[in-house]
Amino acid sequence: MVAKNNKKNKSIKSSSKNKFTNNFISTFLILILIMAIYSFIAEQGSDKQEISLSELATDIKEGEVSKIVVEGEELIVTHTDGEKVSKKEAQASLTETLSNYGVTPEQISGVSINIKNPSGLGFWLIQLAPFLLPLVFIIFLIWFLSRQVKGAGMQAFSFGQSKARITFPHDKKQKVTFKDVAGNIEAKEELKEIVDFLKNPKKFLEIGARIPKGVILMGAPGTGKTLLARAVAGEAGVAFFSISGSEFVEMFVGVGASRVRDLFKLAKHTAPAIIFIDELDAVGRVRGTGVGGGNDEREQTLNQILVEMDGFEPTEKVIVMAATNRPDVLDPALLRPGRFDRRVAIDLPDRKDREAILVIHGDKKPFAEDVDLKVIAERTPGFSGADLYSLMNESAILAARENRNKISQYDLIRSIEKVMLGPERRSHVLSKREKEITAYHEAGHALVASVLPYADPVHKISIISRGRAAGYTLKLPFEDRRLQSRKEFLDDIAVSLGGYVTEQMIFDDLTTGASNDLQVSTALARDMVTKYGMSEKIGPVAFEGSGGRAMFGKGVGDREYSERIGADIDSEVTNFMIDARDKAKKILTENRKILDTIAKRLIEVETIEREEYDKILVANGIALKTKQDIEHQG
Ligand code: ADP
Ligand code: MG
Ligand code: ZN
Repeated sequence: MVAKNNKKNKSIKSSSKNKFTNNFISTFLILILIMAIYSFIAEQGSDKQEISLSELATDIKEGEVSKIVVEGEELIVTHTDGEKVSKKEAQASLTETLSNYGVTPEQISGVSINIKNPSGLGFWLIQLAPFLLPLVFIIFLIWFLSRQVKGAGMQAFSFGQSKARITFPHDKKQKVTFKDVAGNIEAKEELKEIVDFLKNPKKFLEIGARIPKGVILMGAPGTGKTLLARAVAGEAGVAFFSISGSEFVEMFVGVGASRVRDLFKLAKHTAPAIIFIDELDAVGRVRGTGVGGGNDEREQTLNQILVEMDGFEPTEKVIVMAATNRPDVLDPALLRPGRFDRRVAIDLPDRKDREAILVIHGDKKPFAEDVDLKVIAERTPGFSGADLYSLMNESAILAARENRNKISQYDLIRSIEKVMLGPERRSHVLSKREKEITAYHEAGHALVASVLPYADPVHKISIISRGRAAGYTLKLPFEDRRLQSRKEFLDDIAVSLGGYVTEQMIFDDLTTGASNDLQVSTALARDMVTKYGMSEKIGPVAFEGSGGRAMFGKGVGDREYSERIGADIDSEVTNFMIDARDKAKKILTENRKILDTIAKRLIEVETIEREEYDKILVANGIALKTKQDIEHQG
C-alpha cells in the first residue's frame, strides 16, 4: 500500500506537429495585421470626395478652386465647397495637364499650387502594397516551408545522436556527493573504489589492476540508485552521461544501437567519464524469448551495449553504471565478467538510515520545536528514500497551506499516511448504511489484528476514504523486518479477511469493499505455497519466481508444474484461506461486544488513533502487544 511517486527527468521535447501549427497561426496573424494596416491607410485617403481631372479643370475655370496640393499623383483640392481629391497622370506635370484641358495660365496662376514630395510611410505603403503584399506572403511561405524542411532534416540527422543528459563536473548546482546520500554504507564503500580509479587511474593501471568496466546498482524503486550514481560522478569530479534504457528504444528502428554508439564515443572523448544507463531492464531483458513480440530493436541495442563494453580498454577511463529494480530479468550476458561484473545491492533504508534521509531532506526546512525525526523514522518501516523525500515535501505543503511558517510533528505524521495511502477524500460522502458497513469492516480488521499474536499492532482506524479505499486500518510493525515467518503470514491473511467475515456476520451480506482484501490475501497464500515452501502438503518446492532465463525461456503462461500439482496448489491455497476465515470468524464471534464498541465509536468519530484504541482494548480485557511479545513469538 505504499504509494510510489514516479518522478522522471523529462527532457523537453516539443513535437514538430506542434511547431507547425504554431508557425502557421503566427503567419496567419501577421498577414491579417498587414491587411488591416493597409486597409486602414487606404481608407484614410478615400474619405474625401473624388473628382475627375476634367471636373477639376472646369472648376478651376469657374474660379471655385483656391489651392491644390500635389503629392505624387494625388491632388488635394481646396474647393469652395470643401476639400476634394483627384488624380493626375503620372508623367505629366499638373500645369501641363490642366492646360491640356483648356485651363489658361492666368486661371492656373489664380490657384496656389503646392507641390509636396511624396513621402511618409503611409504613402509608400499604399503605393507598394498591391505588389508588396503578395511578395511578402510568398517570401514568408518559402521561409516557413524551408524551416519545416530544415527542422525535419535536422531531426532526422539527430536521430542517431545519443539523447543522454550530460552533467559536467564544474556544474556546481547539479553536483551530488556521497554526503547527499544517507545510509547505504556498503554500497558507498564499494563505489569508493570506482571513485578512486576515476580520480587516480594511473595508480591502478601501473600495478596492473583490472578495473571493473560496469557496475550495476540493484534495488527497489526510490532507494536512491540514480542519486548514488550521480554521487559517484560528483565525488570523482568526472562528466556524467545519463540515459534511460527506455530512451534507447524510442521511436524508430535502428536508432537504439546508433544511440549507444554515439553515447560511448562521446563519453570516450570526454573521459574520464561515467555512462549511466537507468532502468537497464528496459533494454537488458533476456534475449530471444519472444516476450514483448520479439523486439529486435531492443536486442540490437543490447548487443551494441555489449559490443561497446567489450570494445573499450581499461585505459579508457570510462565506467558504465546501470540501475535496475528487476535484476531477475536481466540477460545473463550483461552480467558476465568484463561487462557489468560489479553488482551493488541497495536496500530499503532501515530505521537509522531513514532518520538520516529525513535529516538530509529536512535540512533547509524550518521545524517547530516538537519535531522528532526519530519518531517519524520509527513509524515509516518499508519507506524508500523517495517516499521519505515526498513525506518531507508533503509536510511542508501542509504547513504552508495552513499558513504556518514552521513544520510541526503533526504535519509529518499526517504526511506519513498521505504517502502510504494517498490523500484523504473527505468529500467522498458515505451514505448512512455505507458508513455502518465500512465501520464494521474496519473494526473487524482491527480486532482480528489485535487478538492474533503474530499480527502487527494497530496504529489507526479510519472510515475516511483515502485513495481508492473506503476506510483503512493502519498497522505498523515494531521494527523493520527482513524475514517474515509462516505464522505471521497466516495471521496476516486472517486479518485481511477480518473485514469480509464481519460484513457477513453483521449484515448477512457481502459488499465489493472486501475485494482488494481478498486479492491481496489470496496472492499471499499462493506465494506461501508456490514460493516459500510453506505448505505441508506441497512441500519444499519453489515453483515460481525463479526468474531469469528459466522463467523467460518458457512462453508466457507456461506453468512449471504438472496439471496435478497445479490442482494441489489451488486446493492448498483455498485451504489456507478457509482456515484463515474460520480463525477470524472465531475471534469476531467471541468478541462481538468489542466489535460493536469499536464500530459504534468509528461511526461517531470516523477516526480512532492508537491511544484511544488501546484504551478500548484494555477496557475489554484484551492485552496489548509489546515488542517483547513479538520477539519471543517470532
Ligand atoms: P531510484 O533511482 O533508486 O529509483 P532515486 O535515486 O531516483 O531512486 O531517488 C529518488 C529520490 O529519493 C532522490 O532524488 C532523493 O531525493 C531521495 N533519496 C532516495 N534515497 C536516498 C538516500 N539514501 N539519501 C537521500 N535521499 C534519498
Ligand atoms: Mg532511478
Ligand atoms: Zn478491508
